[in-house]
Amino acid sequence: MFYKEQKKEDMFCKGAQVVEMLVVDERIDSTKISRYNKEPGLWKKHKKDLEIYVCSRCPFREKDCDFQSENPCGNVEPCGGFILLSLLKEYNMITASDMELYCE
Ligand code: SF4
Repeated sequence: MFYKEQKKEDMFCKGAQVVEMLVVDERIDSTKISRYNKEPGLWKKHKKDLEIYVCSRCPFREKDCDFQSENPCGNVEPCGGFILLSLLKEYNMITASDMELYCE
C-alpha cells in the first residue's frame, strides 16, 4: 500500500481506498481474505480493468507506482490493494457493478 503524508483524501492509493470502502460497507468479508495467496498471473489478467477503474484514479500512479510506470523493471509488484482486488475479481467476490460503484 502506498501512503502519503499530505491531504487526507490523497494519503492512500486508490487500491487501498477501494478495499477499505468494500470492507466498511461489508461488501467483502475481511476474515475470508487472508485465505488467499498472491497470484502474480492475475495481475496481468486483471490489469486492464483495474487500470481503468482504480489506477487511472490513483494519486500515486504518475510519480510513485513502479508497477504502472511506462517501463516497469523486472518483477515489480503492484500495491496490496491491486493484489487484493485482482483476487476478489478472479474469485467473483466483487462484480463489475462494485467496480463502478466503489471506484468513482
Ligand atoms: S497499482 Fe499503483 S497506480 Fe494502481 S492503485 Fe496501486 S499504487 Fe495506485
